[in-house]
Amino acid sequence: MDTVFTDAYLEHDMGGHPENKHRLDAVLRWMEKNRIERIKPENGEKYLEIVHSRAHISHIKHCKPGFIDADTYITEKSYEVACLAVGGAVTAAENEAFAIVRPPGHHATRDRAGGFCIFNNIAIASIWLNKRVFIIDFDAHHGNGTQDIVMGNENIMYFSTHQSPLYPGTGLESKENCINVPLHPETNDNTYIKIIDKVLKPAIESFNPEYIAVSAGFDSYYKDYGWLTQLRLTQKSYRKICEVIKPYKSFFVLEGGYNPESIKEGVESIIGYL
Ligand SMILES: [Zn+2]
Repeated sequence: MDTVFTDAYLEHDMGGHPENKHRLDAVLRWMEKNRIERIKPENGEKYLEIVHSRAHISHIKHCKPGFIDADTYITEKSYEVACLAVGGAVTAAENEAFAIVRPPGHHATRDRAGGFCIFNNIAIASIWLNKRVFIIDFDAHHGNGTQDIVMGNENIMYFSTHQSPLYPGTGLESKENCINVPLHPETNDNTYIKIIDKVLKPAIESFNPEYIAVSAGFDSYYKDYGWLTQLRLTQKSYRKICEVIKPYKSFFVLEGGYNPESIKEGVESIIGYL
């Protein structure tokens, strides 16, 4: 699997914040060393209105640098970079690739940024495809923004596993086309692989998607334990997801993961498999 990346993804940065450019240091070194193909993202500005309100887009475009909520920052570069992250997700969908993007997207709703996310990269790319798309979100946090956007959309099925209790506190039950599986802190591969076999696999088979889109958040990885989250998944769980989705067309979009080693080893387990 190729990647989608541009150096501009490092330009949305506020030193000292957990969502900073150094998250990508280790994975970029690994990509360089292993000569992993990097496709340039397109500018995704033209796709924003597929899911976001004009008010939200205009607010982000014109707001002054600083915090727009308790934990989400905007710099002078953020609008431009966030548009490239959206474009990166679309480019990944077109090329069945892994978009190594920042800022992440799954907490962004139609009308609001939040949880370090500005625009919802995976929701835009999934709806843009205009096919039957099954979204798998294995980030340690619930993708409340993605759920908000795709709820009731017959072309999309959303499946999320996430630690609970944890920010943003949503995703405690399944509803309509959104399947939520909350996980206890300390959840490991044994429990997770059972969920893949018993819940995820049958859900994919019954939905029969044309594409699988993955919100890949490596804060569920054991090396992120104690950073912002307390899960203990290893490469085994991510490879198991790959095994299940291998028969389908798929693309991946990076969400969380705050220890650079988690992102590197997580991406490695997927690109090495698909
Ligand atoms: Zn997360």
